[in-house]
Amino acid sequence: MKTKSVLTAALAFMSMSTFAQNTDGRIPAKGFAVFEANGHFQPYDFSRHAVGDNDIRIEILYAGICHSDLHHVFADWGAEEYPMVPGHEIAGRVVAVGKNVTRFKVGDYAGIGCIIGSCRHCDACEHDLEQYCEEGAVMTYHGIDRFNGDEHTQGGYSDTYVVAEDFAIKIPADAEIEKVAPLLCAGITSYSPIMQAGVKKGDKVGVAGFGGLGHMGVQYAVSLGAEVTVFDITDDKREDALRMGAVRYVNVNNPDELKGLDKQFDFILSTIPAKYEPVMYMKILKLDGQFGIVGLPAFRNMPSLSVADLVFQGHRKVFGSQIGGIKETQEMLDYSVAHDIYPEVEIIKADGAEIDKAYRNVLDGKVKFRYVIDMKTMK
Ligand code: NDP
Ligand code: ZN
Repeated sequence: MKTKSVLTAALAFMSMSTFAQNTDGRIPAKGFAVFEANGHFQPYDFSRHAVGDNDIRIEILYAGICHSDLHHVFADWGAEEYPMVPGHEIAGRVVAVGKNVTRFKVGDYAGIGCIIGSCRHCDACEHDLEQYCEEGAVMTYHGIDRFNGDEHTQGGYSDTYVVAEDFAIKIPADAEIEKVAPLLCAGITSYSPIMQAGVKKGDKVGVAGFGGLGHMGVQYAVSLGAEVTVFDITDDKREDALRMGAVRYVNVNNPDELKGLDKQFDFILSTIPAKYEPVMYMKILKLDGQFGIVGLPAFRNMPSLSVADLVFQGHRKVFGSQIGGIKETQEMLDYSVAHDIYPEVEIIKADGAEIDKAYRNVLDGKVKFRYVIDMKTMK
């Protein structure tokens, strides 16, 4: 009797798991994960939820390495869960579509940025600002996907992703696909505050931090007709800034180069990922100038602006900005492709040691300007 019930239970369990596999149809995925906060990537097998009626599945072609990935990997912004597959700059090709999908068909290019879900009905979502969803946006990785069984999300350093079509970005067929992935975070994060500030022809714009985000910000501001000054901490990228259309490059470690800039700027974008003095940038804004902040250093190195700084540099506005909503991300992507604005990328193989090395180089300021992993080379 006892043997029989054990057997029955075992058979019931087996058929349940077979049933679960057949109907829930989880999709095997492989990528590169860190298993602790050490920046050491290793191959990692996991799975993604099945393609639902409103979902698309993409084969990931390219994944950008954003400085935010480093902040997450090294737990700069608080505790993280591991294993973690980072990557929120994703460009790929659609390989499957759910039955209700209308915007994509198999074979199209599609992109995924930092968010893959939101409530869709709060004030933020209704204003196309899903990144500020009042119930919490679902992050592409290091997130919990409450719309798909509380799945722990894993990012783009992998071979495939399943996403609701409403959170996927259309990539035109004639886009330079190997350069598109960084637009999905570096692109939109610099584009959005430039648009929020209303930058226009003839404006004097500063871009502080000339890396992945900064070099996109320079290109957008130049394309709008602004006169752009770049601020960074070495001389290494001076020629690059001028080549991209900046009129001036300031190495902030050389105080002489800051002379004559007081009260000159209509808008300054800070993409700085490390400790700095924000008030220095407030002082070089004109009256009614705006200071947009997107760079988010580790919590232990967080810069601050005091109330006194705000009052003494009064009649100037400071605002922060997180990526952009899905509608604006699509607008940015279409604008970028139409104006031939792309990141400068260094393409690396999908290999743990290569990704480790890229991380070291980002930390050491040796990247020009964005690493992109060619996920097709994954063995
Ligand atoms: P990168 O590392 O590519 O670029 C940062 C640049 O800033 C580098 O050129 C770096 O120089 C320079 N820099 C460092 N310190 C200073 C300083 N004190 N003054 C001026 N320049 C400095 O990073 P990303 O562009 O990928 O990301 C930048 C920041 O933006 C990160 O903190 C990231 O997390 C954040 N981010 C925020 C988002 C948002 O939604 N708000 C979205 C995406 C990113 P060097 O290379 O020599 O070190
Ligand atoms: Zn990013």
